[in-house]
Amino acid sequence: MTDEPLPIARTVDEVAAALQPAWERGDRIGLVPTMGAFHAGHLALMRAARETCETVVVSLFVNPAQFGPGEDLSRYPRDEGGDALAAAAIGVDLLFAPAESEVYPPGFDTWVDPGALATVLEGAFRPDHFRGVATVCTRLFGIVRPKVALFGRKDAQQVAVLRQVVRDLALPLEIEARPTVRDEDGLALSSRNRYLSTDERELALALPRALDAGLAAHRSGEDPVAVVRAALEAAPGLTLDYVERADLGGDTLAAAVRVGTTRLIDNVLLADGAGP
Ligand code: AMP
Repeated sequence: MTDEPLPIARTVDEVAAALQPAWERGDRIGLVPTMGAFHAGHLALMRAARETCETVVVSLFVNPAQFGPGEDLSRYPRDEGGDALAAAAIGVDLLFAPAESEVYPPGFDTWVDPGALATVLEGAFRPDHFRGVATVCTRLFGIVRPKVALFGRKDAQQVAVLRQVVRDLALPLEIEARPTVRDEDGLALSSRNRYLSTDERELALALPRALDAGLAAHRSGEDPVAVVRAALEAAPGLTLDYVERADLGGDTLAAAVRVGTTRLIDNVLLADGAGP
């Protein structure tokens, strides 16, 4: 634990003032972009950044551009006070928590449109989602100028899309992917798990269990997609959006389900020894 309060920057200029010394020193700056409501998955990214970077910046911005009409933007969990304490305890150097008008100021009119990969899996169900993600992350990279940005494999397609953006636009940073952090019962941690009732949470466990069964099936030479689809179609109280196998920085089995009004995604790597 640290007793130091965590500096919070609200504007692009405040970020520049705070990071100027780190830029001048040539620090390895690590950026962890988030939408807040921190759980152990977020904290693992911050710890990983803390271990390898001289300066660690966490951004907290619930990005309207990555939510579709009718999605959960207005009820998305927000707890900046708790988040700041948790980040301070890890030794994060700066929290960037801007208002929407700072991220998308008047006159903002450039969008990063990531192409085919953004139209499949999640992109088929959330048409402008990755355009919103790619745009906000590109802007955050410009504001913070990190050498590395860390993301969770829980959102494996997001990692793959951002790697494509960084490669295609020749942005001067690495994208580092970290493993999915799960609750003891296997449910992948997500800010959206807060929406689940106790009963819904129990139903949601079918998702990681189905993916586990898919992984086991793959290892014994069966079709993992068919196994996961059968398990999720048979699971009570779930609606299956998709299950697919795709190369998302490794051979990946990915699925999305809805439990009540909550949409959950998860994935597992099929390739033995594939990195996170
Ligand atoms: P979010 O606040 O949901 O946008 O997530 C911020 C970052 O945390 C993203 O890179 C996510 O992939 C990552 N993340 C979310 N949940 C998990 C998890 N259970 N394990 C690891 N990383 C996660």
